[in-house]
Amino acid sequence: MVNSNTNIAVIGAGLSGLACAQQLQQAGYTVTVFEKSRGVGGRMGTRRVSDEPDNKTADSWQCDHGAQYFTARDPAFVRQTNQWLAAGVISVWSPTLHSFGVKSDSRQSQPSAGVTRFVGVPGMTAPVRQLASELSVRLQSRVIAVSKQAQQWMLALEHDSTLAGPFDQLVFALPAQQLDDLLAASADVPAAFVNAARQSTQQHPLSPCWALMLDYREELPVSFDAAFVNATGDALFQGDHNTSALLSWIARDSSKPGRPAGEIWVLHASTAWTDAHLEDDQLQVFQSLLGAFNALTGVDVQRYHPRSWRLHRWRYAQALQTNNTPGFICDAGLGLGVCGDWLNKGRVEGAWLSGYQLAQVLAR
Ligand SMILES: Cc1cc2nc3c(=O)[nH]c(=O)nc-3n(C[C@H](O)[C@H](O)[C@H](O)COP(=O)(O)OP(=O)(O)OC[C@H]3O[C@@H](n4cnc5c(N)ncnc54)[C@H](O)[C@@H]3O)c2cc1C
Repeated sequence: MVNSNTNIAVIGAGLSGLACAQQLQQAGYTVTVFEKSRGVGGRMGTRRVSDEPDNKTADSWQCDHGAQYFTARDPAFVRQTNQWLAAGVISVWSPTLHSFGVKSDSRQSQPSAGVTRFVGVPGMTAPVRQLASELSVRLQSRVIAVSKQAQQWMLALEHDSTLAGPFDQLVFALPAQQLDDLLAASADVPAAFVNAARQSTQQHPLSPCWALMLDYREELPVSFDAAFVNATGDALFQGDHNTSALLSWIARDSSKPGRPAGEIWVLHASTAWTDAHLEDDQLQVFQSLLGAFNALTGVDVQRYHPRSWRLHRWRYAQALQTNNTPGFICDAGLGLGVCGDWLNKGRVEGAWLSGYQLAQVLAR
């Protein structure tokens, strides 16, 4: 434990922050993770209706409303995936996949043959929770500014008049826009670092996504478990351009392994539609997305109506799958690092690798 006198704060308990924290702790550092939400996982989220603080109903269903599944290609992430498999916190999901429409650009979303898709069990947050269980995580601790005192870093937290720290190193594991906000409020961070970070955040802004979760009383007559919905060119969509532009992904969440019995669907709105309807009333968004889903699947609206639904607005959902090298930012002299999916191909595997690789550099 050669580094146990070195204190490191990680801001953000999504997968990238927790992967970074785990590696640093294994290298012998003392690590504390700060997370603004009530739970860990960030965009690897599972909504549990029974856990909602204001839930006064007997509803108890759950649904993954962020990341839907992940793949593993890099050897280091394959090793992590194998550990999660052995621990029973993830499993392989083999949905019957469908694809609507054909995109004109290269980011066409189609079911690819031979891809192994993993999901958390019993929900997408399970592997992230497992990482967090071995770490010191302070929940409901939004960092609103960082400052320097006697060559060490201090954190100002919302609703807390005491600064947290001191820390020798800081890791920012936040979506690009949230990093911008935090750095703008942190006058002690040198301009050179802020400018370098801002260059990256401006190149890789995250797009928003409305996610609608639906709980049905009975199984829907839909022959597939999940579908990529591409916006243009398919005969299916002709005559209804609104429907074609609305959705990007639909999935029967209850077809994933280890889920409670039920008929749960999740719908993700397209980036373009979400952008145009970000501030809309929830009921309007629900009606639009449900209408598009029914039109797409041919579900008879007279017979099948969800008995319960939830909406989640991801302001910062997904980054473009850009190929950065390295997929993190590090200034060892200042003791500052940044990791996150948006710096490394914008997906679950990229997020994990970004945090993992940043930790290797910080631990040197
Ligand atoms: C709708 C949707 C669908 C997706 N589908 C897929 C998919 O199918 N496959 C795939 O591989 N990926 C998918 N992704 C992307 C995947 O979820 C992300 O790549 C990954 O989870 C990002 O992890 P992260 O740690 O980089 O960021 P995040 O998970 O966003 O973690 C950042 C954390 O920082 C916290 N935070 C923010 N500000 C502060 C602050 N000031 N103080 C303290 N804490 C703070 C946040 O609450 C959050 O917990 C999807 C994402 C969304 C939203």
